[in-house]
Amino acid sequence: MRAELPTTPQLNETFQALVREFFPGQRVPFRVEWSPRMSRSAGLCYYRRKVIRLSSKYHAALPQEIPNTLKHELIHATGVLGHGWKFRAEARRLGCDVHAQPMPRRPYKWVYACPACGVEVKTRRRVDLSCGKCSRRWDPKYRLVLRGNAPPPVPTAPKAPAGCLF
Ligand SMILES: [Zn+2]
Ligand SMILES: [Zn+2]
Repeated sequence: MRAELPTTPQLNETFQALVREFFPGQRVPFRVEWSPRMSRSAGLCYYRRKVIRLSSKYHAALPQEIPNTLKHELIHATGVLGHGWKFRAEARRLGCDVHAQPMPRRPYKWVYACPACGVEVKTRRRVDLSCGKCSRRWDPKYRLVLRGNAPPPVPTAPKAPAGCLF
């Protein structure tokens, strides 16, 4: 899941290459930065501060999305607010998405079940627990039984589009 992310200078180089390709002759003097804390969107464009931030968490999981997010934020950086018809037309021209991909979840490894109520609990490591629904304290009667391996995760629906703050 972890991938080598481009350095900040590399990121800015890629961004300016996209400016030259899609907005020849235009200056888009934005600084592009990684944000280690951003988790609700893939990227954000701070228009007034001339800064674009990209989520390092999101792009470590989906490194192939970096050009896509850069193009998306570039459109905002040229002064297109929101995701209306103007944005969508530019997104088609640059070949990028209006909405970010769903963030992949860390997969669960194991499924346990309560022998009494049948409730299933997914975990990432082996545990020895009793069912919290059946008894608030540890009770061997409700000790969770290992059912097997958890199924692969279902991707979550996109929470937020690659963002835009003006
Ligand atoms: Zn139970
Ligand atoms: Zn946007």
